Amino acid sequence: MKIFVTGGSGFIGSAFIRYIIDKTSHKVLNYDLLTYSSNQDNLKDIKRSKKYKFLKGDICNKNRLKKTIFHFKPDYIINFAAESHVDRSIENPLKFINTNIVGVTILLETIYAYWKSVKFKKKNFRFLQVSTDEVYGDLGFNKKSANERNLLIPSSPYAASKASADLLVKAWYKTFKLPVLITASSNNYGPFQFPEKLIPHTILSAIYRKTIPIYGKGNQIRDWLHVNDNVRAIYMILLKGKTGEKYNIGGQNELTNLYLINKICKVLDGLSGNSLKNSYKKLIKFVEDRPGHDTRYSLNINKLKKIGWKSKINFDLGLQDTIKWYFENEKWYKKILSKNYKLKRIGKIR
Ligand code: NAD
Repeated sequence: MKIFVTGGSGFIGSAFIRYIIDKTSHKVLNYDLLTYSSNQDNLKDIKRSKKYKFLKGDICNKNRLKKTIFHFKPDYIINFAAESHVDRSIENPLKFINTNIVGVTILLETIYAYWKSVKFKKKNFRFLQVSTDEVYGDLGFNKKSANERNLLIPSSPYAASKASADLLVKAWYKTFKLPVLITASSNNYGPFQFPEKLIPHTILSAIYRKTIPIYGKGNQIRDWLHVNDNVRAIYMILLKGKTGEKYNIGGQNELTNLYLINKICKVLDGLSGNSLKNSYKKLIKFVEDRPGHDTRYSLNINKLKKIGWKSKINFDLGLQDTIKWYFENEKWYKKILSKNYKLKRIGKIR
């Protein structure tokens, strides 16, 4: 089988490709624009595999996309390509509208044209759109976990752009019968994540003894899912999911940001042999909250469990391994910090 992956050089897409090349006989074509959050080093280990090919391309470039898909003739298409950082969507929403809404529409039009044209592969073909728990909006501290039928009430421009994409994908299913699937996962963590995101940002700020910022009081709750558990679920849904349906993927590890950051500091103190006096916790600073910051996301994952998925990675162990990975992969993050990103204090200190 052939899988066409968009956005495969980012954090989750690269974990998915490593999983597919390692565990299956499928061939993968990775089509990625190589924006600031991508990293070719994420796929260094499989770069030479005969089952893997890379092509630089934009999901908004209809001609290139069409040529590539029609030539590759995939059995499955998975879209990881997106602008993915909430803070950046507040600073520059148009970029998010362009990639996450216009790009997905161009992708849907192109995939539909391809799907109509193929004969043998038509019956089993599937397009899977990767979405997020943020589309369900703020659940507050008391509401039940969101299931797949919850209303979409996104708060940030990022979440609104992803919710729009969900609706467009559903429209192509209803109107054109395109066989689609949607996955909505909670916050991912693991190796190779771009350092602007909470967990790697905290680890690297600590390593460089920079301020570790916490938005507001740090009482926002997020559910944490190891990226390798997520990509296993995505693959399972691709094969076993019912077309036209959405599947939540959650780790069922709901933690406040403050608890999580303290936990990271504790593990790092252990690794560095820090005493209480020079603990990384001393670097924590409460900063002005993110505008429209949702207090809690939480996912009901019963539908996913019904197709046989179970988390394999214990959060404490997964977090320890992730922290160790950053500790041991200075070369990987130094390159990013010198080229694409500077660790900085976010917002104003309260
Ligand atoms: P990422 O920012 O690490 O990677 C995104 C990738 O998409 C990059 O390689 C980038 O170059 C590529 N890309 C961006 N615009 C493109 C375009 N126009 N054409 C082709 N490629 C383009 O993001 P990620 O964390 O790996 O997230 C992947 C997907 O999962 C996104 O759709 C995101 O919304 C979703 N998601 C992420 C999380 C998370 O915790 N990281 C949680 C839920 C859902």
